Amino acid sequence: MSYSGQCQCGAIRAAVAGEPVAVRQCWCRQCQQVAGGAATNNAIFATEAVTMTGTPATHSYTAASGNVLTHSFCAACGTPVMAQTNARPQFRTFRLGFLAPGHGLSPQAAIWTSEAPPWAAIDPALERFEAQPPPPQGKP
Ligand SMILES: [Zn+2]
Ligand SMILES: [Zn+2]
Repeated sequence: MSYSGQCQCGAIRAAVAGEPVAVRQCWCRQCQQVAGGAATNNAIFATEAVTMTGTPATHSYTAASGNVLTHSFCAACGTPVMAQTNARPQFRTFRLGFLAPGHGLSPQAAIWTSEAPPWAAIDPALERFEAQPPPPQGKP
């Protein structure tokens, strides 16, 4: 299976050859800022499976874990593209909204639910983690 995606203006594009190692919904505070108030929904792919076209803008910060997280977004249209952590350079975490419609992916787990706003509607079918879950398995 392969996936593709692009931002609203088309300056940033990606192609992914392979299945995600995990698909998660994240309610951490930083994701709420990226996503406009709710959670981000993300598919975690092997870095080696990803081909990027265009150079996204980035913002990095040190998370509570001590890891440096880097968010990528299109500087022209603002579409959130992906995130990555220096602790696991073998993975790229793409926003589901960046991927082309019809990808068929949906979150399997909700993470950082302890930081979700009181009005958050979290699907009870999802596996829940109050904070960071164990890192995804997969090809290193
Ligand atoms: Zn764009
Ligand atoms: Zn998050």
